[in-house]
Amino acid sequence: MSAEPTKSQAAGQAPGPLAVAIVGAGPSGFYAAAALLKALPGVEIDIIEALPTPFGLIRGGVAPDHQSTKRVARAFARTARDPRVHFHGNVELDRDLSLAELRAAYDAVVLAVGMARDRDLEIAGAGLAGVFGAAAFVGWYNGHPDFRDLDPGLDTAAACVIGNGNVAIDVARVLVKTAEEMADSDLADHAARAIQAAPLRDVYLIGRRGPVQAKFTNKELTEMGALADCAAVVDPALLPAEVSGPMPERDRRLAEKNLATLKGFAEAAPSSAKAKRVHFLFNARPVAVLGPDALLGPDAALGEGRCAALRLEKTRLEDGRAVGTGAFFEIPCGLVVSAIGYRMAPIEGLALDSATGGIANRDGRVDPGLYVAGWAGRAPSGVIGTNKADGDRVAGLIQADFPQGSGPGGGASKPGRDALVGLLAERGVRRVDFADWERIDAAEVAAAPPGAPRRKLTRIADLLAVLDGDDDGAPVTGV
Ligand code: NAP
Repeated sequence: MSAEPTKSQAAGQAPGPLAVAIVGAGPSGFYAAAALLKALPGVEIDIIEALPTPFGLIRGGVAPDHQSTKRVARAFARTARDPRVHFHGNVELDRDLSLAELRAAYDAVVLAVGMARDRDLEIAGAGLAGVFGAAAFVGWYNGHPDFRDLDPGLDTAAACVIGNGNVAIDVARVLVKTAEEMADSDLADHAARAIQAAPLRDVYLIGRRGPVQAKFTNKELTEMGALADCAAVVDPALLPAEVSGPMPERDRRLAEKNLATLKGFAEAAPSSAKAKRVHFLFNARPVAVLGPDALLGPDAALGEGRCAALRLEKTRLEDGRAVGTGAFFEIPCGLVVSAIGYRMAPIEGLALDSATGGIANRDGRVDPGLYVAGWAGRAPSGVIGTNKADGDRVAGLIQADFPQGSGPGGGASKPGRDALVGLLAERGVRRVDFADWERIDAAEVAAAPPGAPRRKLTRIADLLAVLDGDDDGAPVTGV
């Protein structure tokens, strides 16, 4: 930043603390907040979040049966309770206030907004009913208010999940686990009912490339071989004898472990005692979703405009890419979930980078005073902890851009929280602070079924009703 005197210095006043707004209360937002508190002890941080609930993907993305991954939220809560940090939930960028207004109010703005939208499945028939992106489908079973009414209609014996990453495997697993296996999860009630009532027997996990290129982490893949009522099935003919070809050492180690796990699945005769099957298909790229008129299969009676089958083309690898062989086959199914990556919802006034799909930036800096952390800056990759390095980097950039630091004598000049709170009050925006969230959290925990961590409230009205004192965790808007 320039070494020119700040507005308050020019006016002869002691400058206030450095005012930083972080947009997004997911892992990247909280890691950035924690890093900033450490790097700039005089900082004041406002975390702005569209939902009334914090923690982003921890609540809305991480699989409901992976509770240990969610424990990091305890550390995020400690950050949120720091007196220098304020959480402002139920406040949405481009709905309640603009980025330009935020930048006018804060010395630094960090965009930690993730990637909330699905990459489009660009094949014929992708618009048919029964075809969903994973952001929507996972949001539905995780009780994200935006997807509460998705109503995927699981009245089908077979589902296809496109993609060979951890999101695809999460979706497949949640669809086939028994009610007992999910009892200690926070699967949303509406989804638990729909999944348990579904006649689903076969789930196909589809990779356009081979098993060596699959991106599943081995822990997640191994889990598929230990499910109570579902067998993991793979045709041994789809598995190479060994991992070959040039690749980074880390990728090779993962591929070798995954190949060994898949061989284990292939060798084990699928237990006929198990009612369900997850089939691992490789070297098959989806080319079209077919409606019932295109196929007379078991799901053809599902109705007009509803997907009845997925058409695939067998592939071979050429220079690491999947190339069609001209051999096609179809899988009858009434549900298709594409877990092929995410993209960003555009933010007014910001350019997106065509390579990452995220906000154009240089190592986290958009320009001095505007920063980006997490998936929004580097594409949707890595695990929750990967965002810690992003947070550290952004804190370092802010430290560098405000060399005089913060607090008395520092370089901060903008009004920060007072301006935000004033603007939102003028617009009648109902802010949810962290103490409010703790009341919602307590209501959800108190309403939890035996063994479960919580019963999620899944509509904005139900979440806010807890704060109006007319709700103790039971939905008021119907379930
Ligand atoms: P991902 O790991 O990048 O996997 C995306 C998959 O989609 C790849 O197999 C990719 O195949 C495939 N794909 C992309 N475009 C396609 C197309 N047009 N047709 C067919 N297949 C296509 O992404 P993700 O599963 O969404 O996960 C995002 C990040 O979150 C990852 O880093 C993941 O590890 C992480 N995550 C972790 C966990 C966990 O640790 N338990 C859980 C969930 C997510 P190609 O390889 O051929 O491009």
